[in-house]
Amino acid sequence: MFRDRGIEIKTREQILSMRAAGLVVGRTLALLRGEVRPGISTRELDAIAEDNIRSSGATPSFKGYHGFTGSICASVNDEIVHGIPGDRLLADGDLISIDCGAIVDGWHGDAAITVAVGDVEPELLELARICEESMWRGFAAARLGGRLTDISAAIETHVRANSSYGIVEDFVGHGIGSAMHQPPNVPNFGRPGRGPKLVEGMALAVEPMLTLGRQDNHTLDDDWTVVTDDGKAAAHTEHTFTLTPQGPWVLTALDGGEAKLAELGVKVGALAD
Ligand code: MG
Ligand code: MG
Repeated sequence: MFRDRGIEIKTREQILSMRAAGLVVGRTLALLRGEVRPGISTRELDAIAEDNIRSSGATPSFKGYHGFTGSICASVNDEIVHGIPGDRLLADGDLISIDCGAIVDGWHGDAAITVAVGDVEPELLELARICEESMWRGFAAARLGGRLTDISAAIETHVRANSSYGIVEDFVGHGIGSAMHQPPNVPNFGRPGRGPKLVEGMALAVEPMLTLGRQDNHTLDDDWTVVTDDGKAAAHTEHTFTLTPQGPWVLTALDGGEAKLAELGVKVGALAD
């Protein structure tokens, strides 16, 4: 069922399929986090991801998406998003973001992590930490009857209060469900209280992208990889979530988001079996 502005409202069963897809994504990213090390290629990480997704009975969302060749996006250092897996070997001190999507019964999950490769400069670890924290602030700010940009504002407020990082504006979060990318856009900045009302059955992918320097960016000649103009590092964190009467339920987090939300004083949501 589609509401105004093309927002897809999912049934309980459909959300449960999205949870199944989300768990495949979450487990795949957990597996990859353990495989990231100096000397491994992004192509090897991609193969591990594809194997894990397919052996879970799911389909990689990214592979073949507008011709994309990988099952993950692997974006290293100044690459913000959409890096193509290939021959590049990870090096000690790199910061890699890995984005992954999977489909179960036609329903999508989409999430990303930023991971340190070996011994990484503290300023890069801090960038990755603030990026992830800002995403969780976004979930914590979301409530039924609230507005979409409550999420955006919470992300921006956390970033501005803790850093002078750039917030990438050209790429934003999105609705997700029977397709990976659906309305509405979920910006990582802006004033609260605007945009569509947050209702049950909505599912959103929230994905802040932060830069150590300026947020200005461009796409490389491969037509995919987005890099910072100033060559400084970027971080990217993403989860797919929905709202239940009990609270936000993070479909791509293995624990549904319970631990991180508890730190922020928010009860995790769920759908009763
Ligand atoms: Mg993603
Ligand atoms: Mg996404």
